[in-house]
Amino acid sequence: MKISGTTKICGIIGDPVEHTLSPAMHNAAFKALRLDFVYVAFKVEKEELSNAMSGVRSLGIHGLNVTMPHKNAIINYLDELDSTAKFIGAVNTVVNANGRLMGFNTDGMGALKALKENGVIPTGKKLVLFGAGGAANAIAFQAAQEVEKLVILNRTAEKAERLAETLGKKFNKWVVGNSLSASHIREELKDSDILINATSVGMHPNIEQSPVRLELLRPDLCVMDIVYNPLETKLAKDAKACGAKVISGVEMLIYQGAASFEFWTGQNAPLEVMFQAAEKAIRRV
Ligand code: NAP
Repeated sequence: MKISGTTKICGIIGDPVEHTLSPAMHNAAFKALRLDFVYVAFKVEKEELSNAMSGVRSLGIHGLNVTMPHKNAIINYLDELDSTAKFIGAVNTVVNANGRLMGFNTDGMGALKALKENGVIPTGKKLVLFGAGGAANAIAFQAAQEVEKLVILNRTAEKAERLAETLGKKFNKWVVGNSLSASHIREELKDSDILINATSVGMHPNIEQSPVRLELLRPDLCVMDIVYNPLETKLAKDAKACGAKVISGVEMLIYQGAASFEFWTGQNAPLEVMFQAAEKAIRRV
């Protein structure tokens, strides 16, 4: 990689960012397409966001990924939001278009693309989504536009109910929100086609946890776990063992990253290169 006077800088801002996979993934992609871009990680504490965003403008940083704790607060420092980011109230991608900072959210796009790339077409399907946090909101927003029925189950039931009500009205769709209780999980999974876990259950270090009991999984259910650390969660292992189609969190990670890459560069992302770089980086971590 050659850094020159014209190299465009992209990066991720968040805290912590030490273990992010994004630099490995994006630098590999820039290199593969011989683009004069570089990607770095900026550790920015909560209180420093305002200063950091002035720096982005002054230094002409070309693009950003945004992670916790800034996904919501960054909106105050942007000039424009796309409709998805506006609705969700969270941004994971910023493009600096000649001084105008534009915010996008590619998490939902990434999740739906991962389904479709695995041959799972959401049209006409019932999708059960676990979670009502940042990632779940983005996925629900995208999914509500494409599936027939969407059920959102969350530990804090009110968050799921509120999200379901808003999305149902906005898209005039059948969307239900409820608590992530054993009985709701059992009832809703009976006739569902797709299950997406967007809670942090099963994430390192709690790798022996799964949000679903093995006996509720079926071979004709597609299961996507957006948790990517570990690479294969307990839920993914259980789903695989019962013959279900399993989509890993890494796939969503790649597709949401690929969408950011395309916003910054205007070029199609080299997906295979990004997959290899991300998997290598995860194994190293
Ligand atoms: P978040 O905003 O903090 O939301 C966390 C969600 O998990 C909430 O719905 C929360 O429920 C639920 N939860 C947490 N602990 C739980 C428990 N013990 N039992 C049941 N539910 C629990 O986090 P996020 O940004 O949405 O991220 C969620 C997960 O997705 C993380 O593992 C993250 O690494 C992963 N992620 C993956 C990608 C990808 O590209 N693959 C992208 C973004 C995030 P309450 O509302 O009740 O607290």
